[in-house]
Order: sequence, then C-alpha cells, then structure tokens
Amino acid sequence: MKIYNIAIVGGGPGGIAAAVESVILKIDDVILFEKGENHSTTIRKFYKDNKRVDKDYKGQKIDLNGNIYFMDGTKESTLDLFDKILATNNIDVRFKIEIDNISKDGDIFTLRTTGGDEVKAKFVVISIGKMGVPNKPSYPIPLEIRNKVFFNANSINQNEKVLIVGGGNSAVEYAYFLAEKNNVMLNYRKAEFSRINQINKELLDKSIESGKLKTKLAIDIESLDSSNGKPKVNFKDGSSEIFDKIVYAIGGVAPVDFLKKCNLELDSTGVPIVNASCESSVKNIFVAGDLLFKSGGSIASALNNGFDIITEINNRIKQ
Ligand SMILES: Cc1cc2nc3c(=O)[nH]c(=O)nc-3n(C[C@H](O)[C@H](O)[C@H](O)COP(=O)(O)OP(=O)(O)OC[C@H]3O[C@@H](n4cnc5c(N)ncnc54)[C@H](O)[C@@H]3O)c2cc1C
Repeated sequence: MKIYNIAIVGGGPGGIAAAVESVILKIDDVILFEKGENHSTTIRKFYKDNKRVDKDYKGQKIDLNGNIYFMDGTKESTLDLFDKILATNNIDVRFKIEIDNISKDGDIFTLRTTGGDEVKAKFVVISIGKMGVPNKPSYPIPLEIRNKVFFNANSINQNEKVLIVGGGNSAVEYAYFLAEKNNVMLNYRKAEFSRINQINKELLDKSIESGKLKTKLAIDIESLDSSNGKPKVNFKDGSSEIFDKIVYAIGGVAPVDFLKKCNLELDSTGVPIVNASCESSVKNIFVAGDLLFKSGGSIASALNNGFDIITEINNRIKQ
C-alpha cells in the first residue's frame, strides 16, 4: 500500500495552508481529506453571504508567516482565494471523505475513512475545526430521556443495558467493547456491515458468536418514548424494548471525541496539548487551526499553523 508523506485531515484554512506550504517546499505524496463536498465547510456553511471577513478577526493582530496572501475581504473573496490556491498548486484533495480514526503502527499512521478505506502516512496534520457535530436521528428524542441518549460511549457504566445504533466501524467498536461488561444490543438498519474493516468484522463476529452481543439488523427505529425515565425504543417491526442508555454512532463526531480516539492528550478544557511546532502528544501528529483554542481562533492563525507545521515536517523529512 502506498505510504504518503503527509496526510491532512480537514480542508479548511489550516488544512489548505498545510497542503499549499507542502507543495511550495516540494514535499511530494501529500493528500488532503475533506468530508464536505468542497473545501472550507465552516466558511461556506456558517458565514452569511457577503459577510465581511477580517484578517485581524476580533482584534487579534496576526502577521502572516506563510505563503498564502490572505487579506480583509468577504466570504466570497476568501473562498475564491482558497479555490485558486488549491487549483494552481495542484493539490491532491479528496472531497466527501471523512476520516474517523487514526492509529499508529511503528512510524506509520493508518487513517481510516468512514467508508472503511485505509490510507497510510508518515506525518498527519489534523485541522478539523470545532464545528463538527455527531449526526442525530431523524425522529425526536423525548426530553425525559435526553440524559440517557449519547453520541459516544464515554458515559456508559458497567452492567447497563445499552442499545448501540449504527453500522460503521465506530458503532461496531462500541458494541463489542461494551458487550464485555454490559448487556448490549447493536441495531443497524441494514442486514450487512459492509463498511467495517477486517479486524472489526472478526471481533464483531466473535462477540456475537459468544452470545455476549445481541443484534437487531435490517430494522430501523420508528420512535423513542420514555418508560419511567428510561428510553423505550419502538422498532419498525412493531417490537419495543427498554434500555438504560442509547448510543448513536451514525456518522459525524464531536472534534474532542475524534482527538481522544486518535489518542491525543488533551488539557482539562479539551484542547490538545502541543509543542511550539503544533505537534501533539503523539509524535508526528500535528494540530492546526481552531482545535488549538478553547474558543476563538481565526483564519490567519490557522494559516500560520499550517506554515509552521509544514516547515517542521520539511526539516524532519529532509534531514
Ligand atoms: C460565523 C463565523 C464567522 C467568522 N468570521 C471570521 C473572520 O471574519 N475572520 C477570521 O479570521 N475568522 C473568522 N471566523 C473563524 C474562522 O472561520 C476559523 O478560525 C477558521 O475557519 C478555522 O480554520 P480550521 O482549518 O481550523 O477549521 P475549519 O475552517 O472549521 O475547517 C475544518 C474542515 O475540516 C472538515 N472536517 C471536519 N472533520 C473532518 C474529518 N473527520 N475528516 C475530513 N474532514 C473533516 C470540515 O468539513 C471543515 O471543512 C469565523 C467563524 C465563524 C463560525
């Protein structure tokens, strides 16, 4: 399998800067993953049309270090600038690809996509911003049970009866892991787990065969009710069951959960601990942009992070 020099996760200002600065420094085999249909999802989705974009956002005066000439403008002029630099620098961008896990084996990272594919790289730059949220079900979650419904497995205690909803790697990982110490059912609307990797497939099969994990497959959920404060799940086949807790793993992830999954050390406010080159506690994983701030951040600071990170990676590659 091909091993990229640098894999960049997130095609906003931080990720774009990392990609462009890599090309300028003639680092080859660089790939950028963006989960949206185009780059800069935060700017596209959260800025109003014609919004004024300030370089010194909210009074933060930042001198640009890198090679992207970003200045005051509008939402549209900012997107145009990024369109142009991505196109003229011939960057290998993969849109509509969401990375859902990064693991390390020796000196090489494996980045896993939500579609179940894997990519290998020597260095990783994470610049996923702070706007990501887990996907929610289309039916309402009654107020009385909202404190029993989760989008990660952090709040599950031993011996609880838990329903995991989803069919990707994350759902399956939660299911077989929690099934060791809990009464767990895995519910997926399809009959087959076609997007999971081989290791997860084997561990899932083992957990099901041993009787630890129950499944309810090819059946969707119709609605949720409260039964004395516990979630009552009404399935589309007419059956209902009461659980202590429900965990939805149906795509999307809160940035802090993504960082935890990648084993990055975070401070008490959920900000990754990095050194002066923005390198995280995991050697050769770097973090750029808004993730480095509890709140705040700006386009200019994300661009500078991209430049600083690639300068450091370039030194290491070309030593
Ligand atoms: C309403 C609003 C107005 C603002 N106005 C200004 C302004 O005038 N000037 C200014 O300097 N700053 C402004 N900001 C802040 C600025 O937008 C951010 O600081 C900047 O976008 C941060 O860049 P980033 O690369 O860290 O993250 P983001 O811009 O958030 O980009 C992250 C990208 O990663 C992608 N992504 C997320 N998860 C994954 C994954 N798992 N796999 C693949 N891709 C993924 C997302 O789709 C997104 O495109 C504003 C912010 C908001 C919300």
